[in-house]
Amino acid sequence: MVRRALGLRVGVVGCGVAGLAAALALARRGHEVVLLEAFDAPHPLGSGLLLQPSGLAAMRALGLREAILACGARVDRLEGYDLAGRTLMKMAYATWRRDGFGLGVHRAALFQVLFDAVQAAGVEVRTGAEVTGFDGLEAPTLSDARGRSHGPYDLVVVADGSASTLRARIRPQARAPVYPWGAVWVNARDEGGAFAGALAQRYHRAETMIGVLPIGAAPGGPSDLVSFFWSLPVTELEGFYTGDFAAWRSRVLSAWPAVEPIVAQFDGPAAFNRAIYRDVTVGRWCAGAFVLIGDAAHGTSPQLGQGANLGLIDAVELAYQVAEPSDLPAYQRARRLQTGPYQLFSRALTPLFQSAGPVGPFVRNWLFAPFSQAPGLDRIAAATLTGTFRLGPTPWELRP
Ligand SMILES: Cc1cc2nc3c(=O)[nH]c(=O)nc-3n(C[C@H](O)[C@H](O)[C@H](O)COP(=O)(O)OP(=O)(O)OC[C@H]3O[C@@H](n4cnc5c(N)ncnc54)[C@H](O)[C@@H]3O)c2cc1C
Repeated sequence: MVRRALGLRVGVVGCGVAGLAAALALARRGHEVVLLEAFDAPHPLGSGLLLQPSGLAAMRALGLREAILACGARVDRLEGYDLAGRTLMKMAYATWRRDGFGLGVHRAALFQVLFDAVQAAGVEVRTGAEVTGFDGLEAPTLSDARGRSHGPYDLVVVADGSASTLRARIRPQARAPVYPWGAVWVNARDEGGAFAGALAQRYHRAETMIGVLPIGAAPGGPSDLVSFFWSLPVTELEGFYTGDFAAWRSRVLSAWPAVEPIVAQFDGPAAFNRAIYRDVTVGRWCAGAFVLIGDAAHGTSPQLGQGANLGLIDAVELAYQVAEPSDLPAYQRARRLQTGPYQLFSRALTPLFQSAGPVGPFVRNWLFAPFSQAPGLDRIAAATLTGTFRLGPTPWELRP
């Protein structure tokens, strides 16, 4: 039985970007929210990410825009070069809107801003709660790996990431294959500010991709950080950690000498985070009291830098549109008008940047890059980059 007058009893599974934002937005709408996280101490995974104007609008709707701007680093453009230094890609936020920009952030900074707000909003956070099952689709009680029960809940928001356990129970036909290529990431200092202002990438065909993203400050740490990433096939990830680090460093420096001050900060691979990504396809995101959000619903590769942004928007729209579980199908229909195109773009574009052989780089260099700079098409490319592309209207609270 749904208790509308008192607000719903909501269980949110997963303390990532999407789960934190959903817990906060729903608590602010007067619901009684419990956040369940598998880790004993919640913490962010990975190194840095790019918040787009769309994600910044969601942070504004959560009342957190100024807090996140204070920690991040402004990004005005995306640039890609080949090994000879020739420009292959160039997209400026100003093409979309004169005052437009992205914000590179340290994941721990984004986590801290959201987590502090969640606690201030009175959300109960239960850690060490790896949710493994539930007892029915309506008003379910959740069970965790330690045999504890949680709930019953009127609404369960499943935000347990692209490898979601609950998704397989709710939607057994969902698919989430791992992309064949992944990356290793590390945060480093950029004391001279050589990489300020741009997400810069260097490519050799689509087999080598090196990137540097300014991310500003870590909580309580230095404020001149960048995230450095190196793309490689998933089958070679293990070898990165056991292989010859000096040889890898020489390979990076011969491809992009300017990153020497960054890679010189490491004498081994231990500090690097590994990243794999999944292409998540789910039919319906909702069933009974359950709704999937974030990567659990629509995980993509990070090629377009949209996953966390889409998760933030999911959370805000969910809280605005869903007063009871029967509102969930309408919420999904509206959200799909944005997440659907991004999943398609991501599938199409990922092999242009991460693949073996000549086809991907050929399409990127001779079709995608020139077309994305043609008058008119440059605006579509910019809307896509900024996270603002959507087939239907953007709710006014989320307009950048
Ligand atoms: C290398 C890389 C770079 C990226 N760069 C960008 C970028 O620039 N911009 C951008 O917008 N996005 C980027 N992304 C994507 C972004 O990181 C994800 O889309 C986003 O983190 C997804 O958030 P989420 O909350 O849905 O899931 P997650 O961040 O995966 O969080 C899931 C949470 O659920 C918890 N959990 C898992 N299972 C359970 C369970 N059974 N019970 C309880 N808790 C559970 C986990 O411990 C975790 O805390 C990048 C991703 C990668 C890999």
